[in-house]
Amino acid sequence: MISIQGLTKRFGETAVLDGIDLEIADGERVVVIGPSGTGKSTLLRCINFLDRPQSGTIRIDDLTVDAARASKTDILSLRRCTAFVFQNYALFANKTAKENIMEALVTVQRVPKEEAEERALGILKETGLADKADSYPAALSGGQQQRVGIGRAMALGAALMLFDEPTSALDPEWIGEVLDLMRRVAEQRQTMLIVTHEMQFAREIADRILFMDGGRIVEQGPPAELLDNPQDERLKRFLRRVG
Ligand code: ATP
Ligand code: MG
Repeated sequence: MISIQGLTKRFGETAVLDGIDLEIADGERVVVIGPSGTGKSTLLRCINFLDRPQSGTIRIDDLTVDAARASKTDILSLRRCTAFVFQNYALFANKTAKENIMEALVTVQRVPKEEAEERALGILKETGLADKADSYPAALSGGQQQRVGIGRAMALGAALMLFDEPTSALDPEWIGEVLDLMRRVAEQRQTMLIVTHEMQFAREIADRILFMDGGRIVEQGPPAELLDNPQDERLKRFLRRVG
């Protein structure tokens, strides 16, 4: 169970997150949509302190972190409960697919190397990349790189997986295989918070969609309700634009 209360992030004078309250049940898939610059990435990044929020609390299972006085230990613990999938994959260029998946297991989770390697090979099989274990990112397609990125997140066994536009840097031909892998992750009842512009995918995978604008959650609901019967004018305008 994830519970976020009063999460606030300012860059200078501007409140990019303006007091976000959000609860996510175990196994729930929540999709975040909204115009550019409304704080979607910042929300995800503040949840694991890639960006440091100024105030608010984040609770993940037994761990509660108060942003205003989070210690290094708190932040590390929070990072252990979360796994991030980045738009641009963010793989280590000088590590193979297998080593990329092993990295956080070994350095953050202190999993012994042999066990980490075994887990990485298992994940590569699951993501359809068994034959790419020893390939470097430069030798992989965008879709394969992002599947490694997702595999790396899967390996962590985190309570919450955060996806920030995981397909928006991809050539159209690779989008399908990445969405398929995300569907498989969802089938494992993994709790997921996903920023995406893939509206058809959102409709299909989400238990709930949040519409953000101006650093706030303006409207939320199950896909059919939110997408087919939007209430807020800003959401109506947004949906007309993304079609
Ligand atoms: P997009 O759909 O384009 O990815 P977004 O909803 O993810 O947009 P954010 O990246 O969260 O938006 O940015 C929200 C606002 O915060 C923007 O106005 C952005 O310019 C600002 N911002 C983000 N990071 C920083 C930073 N490091 N310093 C200053 N301002 C920032
Ligand atoms: Mg963003």
